[in-house]
Amino acid sequence: MPDTSSPIPAPETLARASSPALDAILGTPFKVLDDGFIRVVDYMGNDTSIVQAARVSYGDGTKKGSDDGHLIRYLMRHRHSTPFEMCEIKLHVRAPMDVWRQWIRHRTASVNEYSTRYSLAIDAARTLSPDEWRLQSTANRQGSGGAAPEELGRELSEGERQFHAEARALYEKRIAAGVSREIARKDLPLSTYTEAYWKCNLRNLLHFLSLRMPEAAQYEIRVYAETIGREIVSRWVPLAWKAFQDYELGAITFSEPEREIVSALVAEGADAARDAARRLGFLRPQPDGTDKVLREGAELSAKLLRFGTPSPW
Ligand SMILES: Cc1cc2nc3c(=O)[nH]c(=O)nc-3n(C[C@H](O)[C@H](O)[C@H](O)COP(=O)(O)OP(=O)(O)OC[C@H]3O[C@@H](n4cnc5c(N)ncnc54)[C@H](O)[C@@H]3O)c2cc1C
Repeated sequence: MPDTSSPIPAPETLARASSPALDAILGTPFKVLDDGFIRVVDYMGNDTSIVQAARVSYGDGTKKGSDDGHLIRYLMRHRHSTPFEMCEIKLHVRAPMDVWRQWIRHRTASVNEYSTRYSLAIDAARTLSPDEWRLQSTANRQGSGGAAPEELGRELSEGERQFHAEARALYEKRIAAGVSREIARKDLPLSTYTEAYWKCNLRNLLHFLSLRMPEAAQYEIRVYAETIGREIVSRWVPLAWKAFQDYELGAITFSEPEREIVSALVAEGADAARDAARRLGFLRPQPDGTDKVLREGAELSAKLLRFGTPSPW
């Protein structure tokens, strides 16, 4: 039998894990949108903390021939995610309430938000310049299409300016009349900025980024996620950030039906791929002999395009 007894470690002086590149920007706000920001208030751990945690669970075996970068990449590739929970970060965020409403759906963070019951609402609302108004997308019910025409943009920005001024004036009038802050705020627009401390571990932060950095996320939260990823996480845990970019952000995954269609495409060509796509419900044949491309069909085309392969339909 191997000796697996483990003595209590002798006392040693441990240095706190730190990331000098992140230390250099601690407290520095990164501007986001017209009046928002994100800054790092505090953090715990670095790339080494992830490796250290993984090695505790795997024992000595992984030390051999596996440097920190390789181990982190292995963990990310195989979704061994608990070692990433050893790192924590606390951000100070200022965002418009409509962005914050999406942000707060991520339930695994600890949050304290500026209280508009206790304090006067922040006197700042997100404004759009005339060229920032986006029209409703016709292809995606949840997204924007192109920019509004110039003249419409000017009109919308002017309307916004008046509305913000009126909403704020009404709020301040109520406060001056002695109305409580918790009720006076009820008609403030969603564009009003709020602030919060948001503390999250790296595993859940990367999950947040995987949902809020891609194009499918609304631009207004995407710019916050981009700032967190590219300005903060990249400095804090560069090895984990690179692995995340390679195996999560930039990865393309295929479902079982998609694999079947792509196999048919590679082995037998576009006709066979279309047959498989009809059978698997990616295409719906129409009476005139054409095919209606259903959502999964469009999503598969988009994936193939990323390989430079034209859509088989
Ligand atoms: C592009 C996009 C469009 C969206 N559209 C809508 C919409 O139209 N309507 C809408 O309501 N929401 C919408 N959302 C929000 C979305 O449905 C999620 O609520 C949000 O993204 C948080 O994701 P999450 O639950 O995975 O993350 P988190 O809350 O950060 O949780 C992380 C992970 O922890 C686990 N977890 C956390 N809490 C629980 C729990 N209670 N039970 C089980 N597991 C848990 C899950 O594995 C979860 O994935 C949208 C999000 C995106 C990115």
